[in-house]
Amino acid sequence: MKEIILLKDGELALKGLNRSTFEDMLIKNMRDRLKGLGEFKFVKSQSTITAEPQSEDIDLDEAVLRIQKVFGIVGISRAAVCEKDIHKITHTACEYLADELMFAKTFKVKAKRSDKKFPFDSPAICDEVGGAILSKFRNIKVDVHNPEITVTVEVRDRFAYIHGTQLKGAGGMPTGTGGRACVLISGGIDSPVAAYMMSKRGVKLTAVHFASPPYTSELAEQKVHELLGKVAQYSGRINLFTVRFTELQEAIRDFCPEEMFTVTMRRMMMKVASRIASWQGCDALITGESLGQVASQTINALKCTDECAGLPVFRPVIGMDKSEIVEISRKIDAFDISIRPYEDCCTVFTPRHPRTRPTPEYAREIEALIPDEDKLLEEAVSSAKLKIIEAYE
Ligand code: ATP
Ligand code: MG
Repeated sequence: MKEIILLKDGELALKGLNRSTFEDMLIKNMRDRLKGLGEFKFVKSQSTITAEPQSEDIDLDEAVLRIQKVFGIVGISRAAVCEKDIHKITHTACEYLADELMFAKTFKVKAKRSDKKFPFDSPAICDEVGGAILSKFRNIKVDVHNPEITVTVEVRDRFAYIHGTQLKGAGGMPTGTGGRACVLISGGIDSPVAAYMMSKRGVKLTAVHFASPPYTSELAEQKVHELLGKVAQYSGRINLFTVRFTELQEAIRDFCPEEMFTVTMRRMMMKVASRIASWQGCDALITGESLGQVASQTINALKCTDECAGLPVFRPVIGMDKSEIVEISRKIDAFDISIRPYEDCCTVFTPRHPRTRPTPEYAREIEALIPDEDKLLEEAVSSAKLKIIEAYE
């Protein structure tokens, strides 16, 4: 039996005349994510996109798993393709959904007839298909309000499609329709979640990671690669720049008061990341900061870091509790990687009593104590090494 994947786009419906641009981006993203699995043909019609596998041996289970992570889709169904003949439709429905219908207690049939020339209207299609199911599967009853299975029949221009319960899509907007932003990525829990959340709003990602060898290990960098690999399954390809931060951190340790280590370090991160972001054509920075979580994430401290950014800073987890962030981290399968114990540059030279209410004036005064700040920043920027992170290698 020939099968295809039916995709319902969500917020795209709001986009009026831009709709086609959004759909094209969505299809491009799906093609990209399905690479390696075989050829698919995509057809747009009404609020549905169909993905038709072009050969028999394509792994549709894997294709559905991948498409479930593509932003811009709200519902996904694997569907049987059938000729537009009512007998063939009832027969295909009973056969294609036999495994589910055999064990379910209740069902209903939903019919959509976009081809108005088809001789049966929607209620008549429901009657025919429902009747056939009731006579073939003895233990099942109709429940129109709360059915275990909804059998959907869609009669469209070329074929009829039959599917069972629809799977949930990833929602959001197609990645690439919302510009590009640069995420400051640590190996922690919060920043991968922040990256995922902005990507969900259509933003393409560049990432910057600060490493301070020998204080931080290669395993910490490996962790960042793996975390971004998980995010890339949703966002598509990510350009990751790893920056050597050692000399700047040592200068902060040597010349600044301990209580201002973290805020000063964050200011340096913003300056370096802003420069890389501008080469990459990014229009914003993204961080995983959550208000009040630690001393460097109070309103006052954030005010001190923001003034070094030069671009808007998006902090999608700013109002979330840790447990809410963890929930998303688990959902995107990042959590187990994030909790591996390797040192991050934030945990070297941690002050015992960080200042929680620094002012920007004071932060600037402290920063001025670093000799050759510009040269150190320049060196850090030029140490940036690019690695392309793909969704599926
Ligand atoms: P995370 O779980 O994302 O590490 P956190 O709660 O541990 O966040 P901090 O360590 O204070 O918070 O870092 C705050 C933010 O600064 C991070 O979310 C991230 O955006 C950025 N950041 C921290 N360390 C690094 C790093 N080594 N490289 C790049 N960005 C970093
Ligand atoms: Mg951290």
